Amino acid sequence: MSLKPFRRTKIIATLGPATESEEMLVKLIQNGVDVVRLNMAHAKHDWTRAIIRRIRAAAKKAEQEVAIMMDIKGPEIRTGDLETPLELKPGEIFDFTVKPGADRENAVEIRSVDVNYQNLINDIHVGDTVLVDNGLIRLEVLEKHQAHFRCRVLTPGHLSSRRHINLPGVHVNLPSFTEKDRGDTLVGIEEGIDFVALSFVRTAADITQLRGFLREHNSSARIIAKIEDQTAIANLDEIIRATDVLMVARGDLGIEVPMEELPVIQRRAVRTCLSIGRPVIIATHMLESMINQPMPSRAEITDVANAAYEQADCVMLSGETTIGKYPLECVAALDLITRRIEVEIAADFPEPAVFIDERMKLLRSAVIMANELPQSVLLCFTRKGVTAAGMAAHRPAHAPVLAFTDSVHTQRHLKIVRSVEPYLLTPFGDPEKTIGRAVAVLLKAGRVKLGDKLVIVSDLFTPSNKRFDSIQLRTVE
Ligand code: PEP
Repeated sequence: MSLKPFRRTKIIATLGPATESEEMLVKLIQNGVDVVRLNMAHAKHDWTRAIIRRIRAAAKKAEQEVAIMMDIKGPEIRTGDLETPLELKPGEIFDFTVKPGADRENAVEIRSVDVNYQNLINDIHVGDTVLVDNGLIRLEVLEKHQAHFRCRVLTPGHLSSRRHINLPGVHVNLPSFTEKDRGDTLVGIEEGIDFVALSFVRTAADITQLRGFLREHNSSARIIAKIEDQTAIANLDEIIRATDVLMVARGDLGIEVPMEELPVIQRRAVRTCLSIGRPVIIATHMLESMINQPMPSRAEITDVANAAYEQADCVMLSGETTIGKYPLECVAALDLITRRIEVEIAADFPEPAVFIDERMKLLRSAVIMANELPQSVLLCFTRKGVTAAGMAAHRPAHAPVLAFTDSVHTQRHLKIVRSVEPYLLTPFGDPEKTIGRAVAVLLKAGRVKLGDKLVIVSDLFTPSNKRFDSIQLRTVE
């Protein structure tokens, strides 16, 4: 296994036509992708099963473990099919039909399109804004009727079939975990996915429902809550507490909230996640211009740098790696920018956060010790990943968190956690021998060298076989 230079910030790449071949998957993983994302909005079950198996095969070839995230679509409202696209004109009166075929007044003069959600008529109000096709077309609701609602076009545009509808500030009563999501998640569970990303999460109860479903089907997959609308922002704290990982899904969020609120929400979400040790992902439009050109814009470089300065756990690529011409260059750009900023932060690091939990206080002590020893690494042995993630939550300044686990599931779950480099070591045995085996792995991989300091969090046993926690300081020899 040849290791790349250590990077704290994790990289997520969404798969699509540009990246789904095994050859490209091997390259993505070798070039530093930690998590691959399957966007189920565009995926069929046959493709999903085949791609998951191909990802696992590619990871073997690349000799690097990779985690798989299944991003389920959630409650999407869409326009229906149109025989020919429509050019909506400024000021035009336009109808959205929730019961196709029902009578509309003045139907001859007023053009219309169907909507795939009947109850929308009960959720929206006169005066609400309707945004179509990623916010490109803007309309205002003028009247509600039984089978349709009538709008005025505020921002004109080209309307084609099956376009996504956003309704800023409207509480939509669709279930968060839909029938399609259940079917997709079952396929993911059967194929052994590591994360399920739940779209349009609005409350903690949405997460509890998915957690119940995963438990019922004996899945150890972790939950990523995607915050994408104003209801999620109103309930942000409870969502962060309930989820395993948070995703700031800036694509939809950027349409659903006033634009100037987006950076404010991102910062608040990241800070809240850091304050309770919850991993957080910054997603969408990080390197959008690289879909068509090999270099990022200056603003994109600064956006990626900002996510690294904020100490988010992950940055995510979407269109850049699904349909983009330069997927590997995008990964290289994220790798370069984030590593540069991590060096910058390390020069001026703050005191690690204080958590209430007693074990977190032990881990804080280990991180403080490592912060004061520039040539040190943090080493831990972790079955469920809690010790490793707990160390990472304290945001160590210089030391990587080198985490050994005897579970491949834990190894993959830790791929999403900032600062953690997870290794599989089976089976764990006598603590002293296990430390020796771990150090041998790290020496062989080139992650440590003779003379480096090891700050180790491990179990120890008394002569009467009583287990206790320890922090040890050793030197690689
Ligand atoms: C987003 O909206 O930013 C996002 C990641 O979700 P999706 O790509 O599923 O719309």
